[in-house]
Amino acid sequence: MFSLKKIFILLLVLVLALSLCGTATASDISVKLNGSQLSFDVPPTLDNGRTLVPLRAIFEAIGADVKWDGDTQTVTATKDGTVVALTIGSKTAYKNNGPVELDVPGKIINQRTLVPLRFVGEAFGSNVVWDGNTRTITITSGSGSGSPPSDPPTKSKMKAHFIDVGQGDAILIQFPNGKSMLVDGGPRTAGEKLVSYLKKAGITSIDIVVATHPHEDHIGGLLNVLNNFPVNKVIDSGYPHTSKTYEDYLSLIDQKDISFEIAHAFNSINIDPGVKITILHPGTTMADSNNNSIVLKLQHNQVGFLLTGDAEAEAEKYLMERTDATTLKSDILKVGHHGSRTSTSDAFLKKVSPSTSIIMLGEDNSYGHPHSETITKLVKIGSEVYQTNVNGHIVVFSDGNKVNVFTVSDKPISSDSVVIEGGEVTLQRYVGSIKSDKYHYPSCRYAQSINPENETWFNSKSDAQTAGYVPCGVCKP
Ligand SMILES: [Zn+2]
Ligand SMILES: [Zn+2]
Repeated sequence: MFSLKKIFILLLVLVLALSLCGTATASDISVKLNGSQLSFDVPPTLDNGRTLVPLRAIFEAIGADVKWDGDTQTVTATKDGTVVALTIGSKTAYKNNGPVELDVPGKIINQRTLVPLRFVGEAFGSNVVWDGNTRTITITSGSGSGSPPSDPPTKSKMKAHFIDVGQGDAILIQFPNGKSMLVDGGPRTAGEKLVSYLKKAGITSIDIVVATHPHEDHIGGLLNVLNNFPVNKVIDSGYPHTSKTYEDYLSLIDQKDISFEIAHAFNSINIDPGVKITILHPGTTMADSNNNSIVLKLQHNQVGFLLTGDAEAEAEKYLMERTDATTLKSDILKVGHHGSRTSTSDAFLKKVSPSTSIIMLGEDNSYGHPHSETITKLVKIGSEVYQTNVNGHIVVFSDGNKVNVFTVSDKPISSDSVVIEGGEVTLQRYVGSIKSDKYHYPSCRYAQSINPENETWFNSKSDAQTAGYVPCGVCKP
């Protein structure tokens, strides 16, 4: 029999626990605007995995005029003719009357309005970068949204940009000596976006363009690049393709009289004496374009990068047979073939054992990339996983000893979808029906009664909730 006192204590503990799990203050988060540190009376806060920052202090610091309407609980901010409005508790804000969706609504804490970090960037086109290592938010105002971090590399730093081009690859390497290399150019549809990103990154000419293989999602955007920048040399896999895009690419190289080389395994690319670049593949001709992808190893002192194009298990096996352990071992792995299960074989991953893995892909690709098997494997070996469809542009700085990873969005990678039980790591996905608003564990009897053509899958609970789904009352996901 419980005494009243015991019940009271139990209730108190419960109330405390409930009040703690909602919002956690993250006063160790610092915010820098155009290089100088901002201070706030109400600090940035974490709410459901999203960083909320004080709106008025930041907007006023970037020169916006901020007004509060207590009746409608709406903040209106104006800068250079752009008007943004946000109502407390609403997930839709407005920019010049166009809706802007928020991950979580703005809220009032100690009489201050806090809004999701990403909204600050979108509102007036500021560049917002979250550095998880130092827990620092860097805001650069004045530049357009989606710009690369403007922090210029210091002399010895190398910068690798994994550019969000939707479904496809485009990787810009800026070497310590100022030279540059572009590995793939994404699909044709992303060509203009890629060119504008490169310009914002300060690129005026490109020393080397590598086309890992002739698929459209790797060379399509190169047409815009070749038309917009002087290029010194193109390195090609030498595996031909009959597509119009590949023909256009070849004739453009010819027309612009750009030096053209076929990649040979174990040749090196000499571009900066501080970074050793070795072509690891193709070392032989394989049966398809993907497996003939150019694979590059970049070694910047202690830091290794492995860029694999769309190489699949067959090429990985060949690579393992032909290289020693230290050659494949890399800190950063550009995961093969957009996270497909046909790449990243267990043995290969063990050899590479990357601390950071980057998957490049578009949100609504028709291939089901990334495959959950691949993400599960990467998480299992303790690799930090970034995806361009989740994080946007991903920029890795290397000083030759360690790396810092910067992303434009602060959204954590499906952290609530990784389940660790008895040392086993699995990826928990959720399923709903397009005909209802409930999401379920796949094992739920209601999930199993969903007509397969109506199924819609989510990689995390927050993804399901963002899509407007609510948890099933039976399986309680
Ligand atoms: Zn591809
Ligand atoms: Zn491909």
